[in-house]
Amino acid sequence: MSKKGNIGVTSDNIFPVIKKFLYSDHEIFLRELISNAVDATQKLKTLASVGEAKGELGDTRVRVLIDKQKKTLTVQDHGIGMTAEEVDKYINQIAFSGAEEFVNKYKDNAAAIIGHFGLGFYSAFMVADKVEIFSLSYQEDAKAVHWSCDGSPEYTMEETIKAERGTDIVLHINEEYTQYLEDSTVEGLLTKYCKFLPVEIAFGMKKEWKDGKQVETGEENIINDVNPAWTRKPADLTEEDYKKFYHQLYPHQMDEPLFHIHLNVDYPFNLTGILYFPRIKNNIDIQRNKIQLYCNQVFVTDEVENIVPQYLTLLHGVIDSPDIPLNVSRSYLQSDNNVKKISNHITKKVADKLAEIFRSDREDFEKKWDDIKLFIQYGMLSDEKFYDRAVGFALLKNLDSKYFTFDEYKVQVKEAQTDKNGDIIMLYAQDADASYAYIQRAKEKGYDVLLMDGELDVHAMSQFEQKSFEHTTDSDDKKGAIRFVRVDSDVIENIIQKEDKAKVELTANEEDALRYTFESLLPKTDKTRYDVSLEAVSADALPVFLTQNEFMRRMKEMSAHQQGMSFYGNMPDQYNLVINTANDKVKALLGEITTACAEGTTPLLEQIAAKKAEEATLQEAQKGKKDADLSQEEKDAVTNVTKELAALKMQLKEQYTAYATSSEKIHQLIDIAMLAAGQLKGEALAKFVNRSVELL
Ligand code: ADP
Repeated sequence: MSKKGNIGVTSDNIFPVIKKFLYSDHEIFLRELISNAVDATQKLKTLASVGEAKGELGDTRVRVLIDKQKKTLTVQDHGIGMTAEEVDKYINQIAFSGAEEFVNKYKDNAAAIIGHFGLGFYSAFMVADKVEIFSLSYQEDAKAVHWSCDGSPEYTMEETIKAERGTDIVLHINEEYTQYLEDSTVEGLLTKYCKFLPVEIAFGMKKEWKDGKQVETGEENIINDVNPAWTRKPADLTEEDYKKFYHQLYPHQMDEPLFHIHLNVDYPFNLTGILYFPRIKNNIDIQRNKIQLYCNQVFVTDEVENIVPQYLTLLHGVIDSPDIPLNVSRSYLQSDNNVKKISNHITKKVADKLAEIFRSDREDFEKKWDDIKLFIQYGMLSDEKFYDRAVGFALLKNLDSKYFTFDEYKVQVKEAQTDKNGDIIMLYAQDADASYAYIQRAKEKGYDVLLMDGELDVHAMSQFEQKSFEHTTDSDDKKGAIRFVRVDSDVIENIIQKEDKAKVELTANEEDALRYTFESLLPKTDKTRYDVSLEAVSADALPVFLTQNEFMRRMKEMSAHQQGMSFYGNMPDQYNLVINTANDKVKALLGEITTACAEGTTPLLEQIAAKKAEEATLQEAQKGKKDADLSQEEKDAVTNVTKELAALKMQLKEQYTAYATSSEKIHQLIDIAMLAAGQLKGEALAKFVNRSVELL
């Protein structure tokens, strides 16, 4: 037998296509050839097991051999081999219809092209000028065949002599790709793609250190573990085995994983794997130790974004599935039904496992909570289904390091922390030291305070609020909402209001006196806005203090992590300076202010009163009239009075400002409010210290 022919492609020539478009991923040729070798070996084992292949199996290792002189790389197997007819059928006839169209569509995705055409073998031409096949079929009386092709559509095929059953694929490496003749490059690729293949892959000899030198031992260097943990039954594996496998996957990872999940599904799709919960310390760990995707133990990729939900990519481990369409584009993956099912299944498994640990060993779960919290919150925030499963074991931690589920905590604080509207107020701190005084006051009232210092806590709280709200609206008896409020955002009496607020019992003029005095001394910056408000809080609360609106603050914090929220991010920080009119010191201060300013303000106040009366008269006269019915004169009269009133108020304000500027007490009070809120810094702080010393 000797034969020449053209490779059966309908398009002119596939080789330019292979070379041109597959350039970026050319290293996968090795994976493809070894996969074929492994398949051939496994087929032989199957045939032998049913008695169809006779004789001894013998050596079944797949070998990768490099000959630097001849510039060849050979993939050798002892599998089923091919007869001349089979080479003709499997290698010479390539279905290649619609090639150009497809290639254009996927020109950046070599894997897609290879997969689409079943070009596994032909990927060899990405790096080789000439490829030869030497093959001897397992079939009785088979004749060995030698096939050769130099990259043109022409091939030659002839009978040859080959002693051992199986196939040698010999690549004459192209000048540009001599890296594939380097041991280190090839070993690197083998480790990447073949680490867990089911048939032993040998590459060179094992080396050991002897007298300061590396010398070859008599033993072959086996690249892979043919029985990786995920292919074994969970019952056969110990905790140690799982840890060992983790380090096999990530040799550079020092930490132990927190726990693992062994996946094993055979219906409606095939999937095995082991996922690990890592101790997430930093981003680098997440980026480096990615989940690896395998297809029948062949490494495919560690870009699994479209196969598992995004938050699960925080996990480590392996997924192996012959059912994931590996050779298609990423956008296609997203819409693939199998992929969606797999993704849902993994989500469910992960949640089930967590729930199981939570139920069976809560103590252990609580110990690990701080480490897995970020992951679980991320999952709950990004996946409704995961939220529903996780809400039963997601934990809240209070300042005494006690852990509660959301429902447990609700029961825990309900009695003490329900306000007059029936809302349950959950108090929290982000920085226990900075909020010390506020926390103490809350505790004195018998309230509990949570610690919410995690990156996603703000989002998680908003989600809890939202969900509890959704639930309560369903029920007939209108239960109150749940609100999280930072413990230092206001005085505790205001955060959890037990009764209606006392009214501020001051005259309008007295209110102006206090407001103008304090307003004039508040810092004015672009980044922060301060407003003044008067409230009769309680006699024992501070005379003056800062509060911050919970909603606005939280929105700003959330905007730091979230796109599309820059509107909040760009808003200034907003604080309220509350003057506590129920405090005796404030009452006394008001007396001092009005007395000291009386000389300047009394005549102004009289004028203002007169103007106001004038304004009232005008308004009364024009009441019920339409704008068109008013004469210009009448309109001007109103405008003038308004202007004059504003001018008088301005003068009044100036009087109080002058007083405030020279009053150490007002300065001191504002500084104390700032200090209590952790906002007194730099020059302002130095001034405060000096003033305090002076006042002693
Ligand atoms: P695929 O592996 O996707 O079918 P390939 O082009 O890689 O596509 O291989 C085509 C066919 O050639 C294989 O299905 C197999 O029947 C045969 N073949 C390739 N390599 C070998 C080998 N080393 N031993 C036996 N048969 C092989």
